[in-house]
Amino acid sequence: MLNLVLFGPPGAGKGTQADFLIQKFNLKHLSTGELLREQIASRTALGQEAELFMDKGFLVPDALVIEMIRTELQENKHENGYVFDGFPRTVDQAIALDELLTNIGSEVTAMLLLSVEKQELIKRLLNRSKTSGRADDQGPAIIENRIQEYNEKTRPIKDYYTAQNKFHRIAGVGTVADIAQRLIETVNKL
Ligand code: AMP
Repeated sequence: MLNLVLFGPPGAGKGTQADFLIQKFNLKHLSTGELLREQIASRTALGQEAELFMDKGFLVPDALVIEMIRTELQENKHENGYVFDGFPRTVDQAIALDELLTNIGSEVTAMLLLSVEKQELIKRLLNRSKTSGRADDQGPAIIENRIQEYNEKTRPIKDYYTAQNKFHRIAGVGTVADIAQRLIETVNKL
């Protein structure tokens, strides 16, 4: 199996690049952000709880997202592997993902960081807010919270994967096609 963790701050382009990777390597896309937005749209209990955190730009509690990924892995078996997009976002989630993959006889192959400067992220997110309809793209204060959550809780995951020799940094600037090419070259070398 090829299991890729696509990693980076909000606005780094994870969703866009995940689409390229799943097509190129025939993988399944698992985005916790998308799954949570589906739960909110369906007005489930999980969605209603998650919405309280998401709308303010804060991370949803680990237990909720870990359970969601556990269910997805059980219900959507995909023998080639997965692109995890927006998950894990804390070290505890990274530990849980290792356990979940060990249970199916597999592991994370690589963690790919899309690296983008803060000013560029803010510009992209404010631009996206015009069309995304996402509550958490609206306004600099919420965007600032999301970047802060990333710096405090998500960034330390880099050390977790570096210790396992699985960390790769990719410049997340230039055209979408340029970035996709860099990602594909990195994966081909794994
Ligand atoms: P995203 O679509 O990946 O930008 O995620 C949107 C929002 O969903 C985030 O700002 C968080 O509030 C929530 N979220 C998505 N994935 C996770 C996760 N793995 N852990 C905690 N919260 C998450």
